[in-house]
Amino acid sequence: MPRWGSTKLEGAGSQGVVVLLLALASAAAAFSTATAESGRRDRFDAVVIDAGHGGKDEGATSPRGLVEKELVLDVTQRLARRLREGKLRVVLTRDDDVFVPLESRTSLANDARGDLFISIHANSARNAKPRGIETFFVSLEASDESARQVAERENQAFGADGVVLSLHDPLAAILGDMAESEHVAESDAFARLAQTELRNAIELPSRGVKQAPFVVLMGVRMPATLIEIGFLSNSEDERILRTGQHRERIAEALAEAVFRYGERYDALRGIGGELSLGSTR
Ligand SMILES: [Zn+2]
Repeated sequence: MPRWGSTKLEGAGSQGVVVLLLALASAAAAFSTATAESGRRDRFDAVVIDAGHGGKDEGATSPRGLVEKELVLDVTQRLARRLREGKLRVVLTRDDDVFVPLESRTSLANDARGDLFISIHANSARNAKPRGIETFFVSLEASDESARQVAERENQAFGADGVVLSLHDPLAAILGDMAESEHVAESDAFARLAQTELRNAIELPSRGVKQAPFVVLMGVRMPATLIEIGFLSNSEDERILRTGQHRERIAEALAEAVFRYGERYDALRGIGGELSLGSTR
């Protein structure tokens, strides 16, 4: 049982993490309600899609000028269209080129009572060689050095809110509890479905499912993943990511993963028809 308590929240300090703390406090306050309601959860019907960056925060830029904030918004809108066609309720943290602070992304997602949160980003490395698509879910410790660097870069977009936490920080204890919460296994499950669908559908190599401390995933009270759809720093990835056809394929693969996850979600709750577990086709 997660040990979220007001004592720990009060003891967590406030330097540079006020916004994140507010999100966590909100998550902690709602936890008992969510737990109480978990016995009568309804059908999978709402997805929150978070297009990374926006406005003054452009994210990464390729040497040829492809800008992350524009690329990920386009993919987000393509995915939203497909999910809506599939009769799902879709909430976007941004639907335009605007800057959205961390706490707004978190509260938009939580207020929407989403069943799944998908944050869409594009990668960039100092070296032009790395390429491919990778899917993350949250953890305090990154699964490897490159995953740690991705989280560090993406967290910078939120300035002081994106502070990298020390394991000795009391806040880290809370996050550690969150990392053990019910949503982690579900986040992992969706991440694997997404990576499988993407691997089968798109030209970019698969870099697999990883874990890292992304602040945008920490405050949301639902299974949450962050997808890096390719490296803007790699010329081959960049060339492919420029095409509408490829973006549509990413959206199609992610939509398929969401539908499969939804079927699994409902089946686990005894809702709906046949069980469709097992995504390794
Ligand atoms: Zn990004």
